[in-house]
Amino acid sequence: MKIQPVRGTHDVFGKNISKYNKICEEVDRIARLFSFLEIQTPIFESTNLFSKPLGEASDVVLKEMYTFLDKSGDSLTLRPEYTTPIIRAAISNNLINSLPCKLFGIGPMFRRERPQKGRYRQFSQINFENFGTEDTLADVELIHLANKILKSLLPNIKINLYLNSLGDKDTLKIYKNKLSIYFKQNKRFLSKESQSKVESNPIRILDSKISEDKNLISKAPLLIEFLSKDALRKYEDIKKLLKKLNINYFEDNSLVRGLDYYCHTVFEFKTSSLGSQDTLIGGGRYDGLIKSLGGKDIPGIGWAGGIERIILLMNNVSDNLNLIHFAILHEKFKEHALLAYNLLIDNNYSVYWNFKYNLKKSLSKASESKARFILIIGEEEFKIKKFKIKDLKTGHQKLVNIDSILKFVK
Ligand code: AMP
Repeated sequence: MKIQPVRGTHDVFGKNISKYNKICEEVDRIARLFSFLEIQTPIFESTNLFSKPLGEASDVVLKEMYTFLDKSGDSLTLRPEYTTPIIRAAISNNLINSLPCKLFGIGPMFRRERPQKGRYRQFSQINFENFGTEDTLADVELIHLANKILKSLLPNIKINLYLNSLGDKDTLKIYKNKLSIYFKQNKRFLSKESQSKVESNPIRILDSKISEDKNLISKAPLLIEFLSKDALRKYEDIKKLLKKLNINYFEDNSLVRGLDYYCHTVFEFKTSSLGSQDTLIGGGRYDGLIKSLGGKDIPGIGWAGGIERIILLMNNVSDNLNLIHFAILHEKFKEHALLAYNLLIDNNYSVYWNFKYNLKKSLSKASESKARFILIIGEEEFKIKKFKIKDLKTGHQKLVNIDSILKFVK
């Protein structure tokens, strides 16, 4: 029986694992610059951590969660997103006693979506969260950080930032009502999928990608017209600060994001280089969420980025693997070879041998994997206790004793 991978999952290896690791390194480096601390949480949590905060009518909760009963009868869910687990962990570990609390996490998420390029059922996210401040500087800092990470990992890809403000929770409630009335009156012009959201989640109709819906959406009441003075001031402030940092943005009034907990600032970084799954990073404010999860009444803001989508766009990463290949021409030279092998490893050089004891095969493997050097141990070298080392880039070769190997490869 050949067991197949589960639909929507994939294994990461070769060039993609080098890219994955490079992403984690860059995220870690940049997180430190902005003083965010890393956190790791379990991949499963109690189901009620997600169902209410994400919105009972959201796609994630309605259709996409991997929820199961464990043997004790508790309902558990593989985390579909990272904001609520990080908040849960910050509360459980008293991390929000000292504010602001700036955390980031990287790891797998699970959503039972229809798989396609850039959309998987297990995927990895980078998450940044800042708990405890309403200051617009925190919004800008998080956007700045996201922008830096994307610029550093994808220097040649055109990425646009889209920005919107959802206003405070009360405004949002009023707006949702207005929108619901508008869509109800024109329900017959909507797609079947959007019709089902008219009562439960009208705001999600705004980011429908279905062409049938476009006309009605373009004439829908605009959220910006409902924003309070204070919300508008915050929004203007953020735009001003982004300009100071030379971060370009487009305002997109239909940007609402999928989950219920968002308010005020929402943003997405998108690219046209990916096909339909075009959002690399999405985030926003979620004032009120921390309190609803049993924490203090403090505001919060964060974003999530998809690692697989970044990998799809990234150039290959040079990983310096197999820098020095060994060609051991007979099993009886193993011990002699081991001396050089050990010395090189102790000095942080990457080595490789193919267990073939055959010069031709070793040479062809070295050239195939673009090794820089080949170290040959044949009868002659073994006898005089030396090593033949060749620089495959320059063609220069030399018979050296163990003490001179490092000098040669340097
Ligand atoms: P979301 O939590 O839906 O806002 O997603 C944040 C980011 O995670 C998106 O912008 C994507 O880059 C990535 N993402 C979300 N869902 C998936 C998925 N099913 N497969 C791969 N990446 C995803």
